[in-house]
Amino acid sequence: MNSLKLKWDGHNHTEFCKHGSGRPLREYAERAVSLGFERYTVTEHPPLPEKWIDDPVLMRELAMDMAELPLYLKEVKAVKAEFAGRLDIRVGLEMDYLFENESFTEAVLAEADGLEEAIISVHYLPGRGGMRCIDYTPEDFRDNLLTYYGSMEKVVDAYYDHVEMAVRSAAAWPWRRRIGHINLIEKFRLALPPIDQAQIRGRLTNILPILAECGVGVDVNTAGLRKSTCGIPYVPEWFMDACAERGIELVYGSDAHHPDDVGAGWEWFAAAAKRK
Ligand SMILES: [Zn+2]
Ligand SMILES: [Zn+2]
Repeated sequence: MNSLKLKWDGHNHTEFCKHGSGRPLREYAERAVSLGFERYTVTEHPPLPEKWIDDPVLMRELAMDMAELPLYLKEVKAVKAEFAGRLDIRVGLEMDYLFENESFTEAVLAEADGLEEAIISVHYLPGRGGMRCIDYTPEDFRDNLLTYYGSMEKVVDAYYDHVEMAVRSAAAWPWRRRIGHINLIEKFRLALPPIDQAQIRGRLTNILPILAECGVGVDVNTAGLRKSTCGIPYVPEWFMDACAERGIELVYGSDAHHPDDVGAGWEWFAAAAKRK
C-alpha cells in the first residue's frame, strides 16, 4: 500500500501560493516529467476565513482569495489536459483543519468542482490572541504557542489532538484523502526545546486505528529534510511500517513550493518504502 508501484509526487504547490516561488504550474509539471514521475497531484492552499489569523500581512501570504479558487481549478484542469499521456496530473487541494470553523472548509469544498484528491493538514492551533501558525518561525512558535501552552509537551498534545480531529473531519469526504505532514510539529525541533520522542510515538500509535477507520492515508512529506531547523522527513520510518501493516495508504509528497523541489526526497522515500 504505497506509491512505489507508481512514481507519484502527491503534494505540490503552484503560482497560486503566495509564500512560494510564483513559478507557473507548467514548470513544475515539466520538472516532474523530466524526473520520470508518472502521477503528480497539485495540492494548493485553499482560501481561509477572513481574519483567521490576527496579522493582515501574514494572512495575505497564507492562502489564495476565494475569487481565485475557480481560476486555480481551471488552470490545473487545463495543464492536466495538456500533459495527458505524459503525466497523470490530479486536481487537489491541501485543506487546512479549521478548528471550530469546519463549515468554512465544507463551503470551500462545495465550490471545488472537479476535485480528485484532498490533503487535510494541521497548520494552525489556538494560541496567544487567537489562531496561530505552527510552522511560521521558531520565534513566533515560542512567543505565541510555547508560552501560551506552558511546555512543549502541552503544545505537542494539543497538536496531535487537532491531527485526530482533522482525520475524523475528512472521513466522509468522497475524494481520495490523506493527512498532510503528520509530524509538522517537528519543523523547528532544532531551534526549540526538545520534544519527547516517546510522546510522539505514543500519539502516532493512537492515530493508526483512526486513520484505518476513517480511510485516510498518509502524506509521506519530505519537506522537513530541506529545513535547517528540522533535517528529517515529517513521517518517521517506523510509522510507515505501522501504516503499511494496517493497509493505510502511504503517498510520497515533496511539498514543492518551487519547481526545483519537485521530487526532492524521493530517494529517501523509495528506500524506506522498499523495506516494507
Ligand atoms: Zn505552502
Ligand atoms: Zn502544509
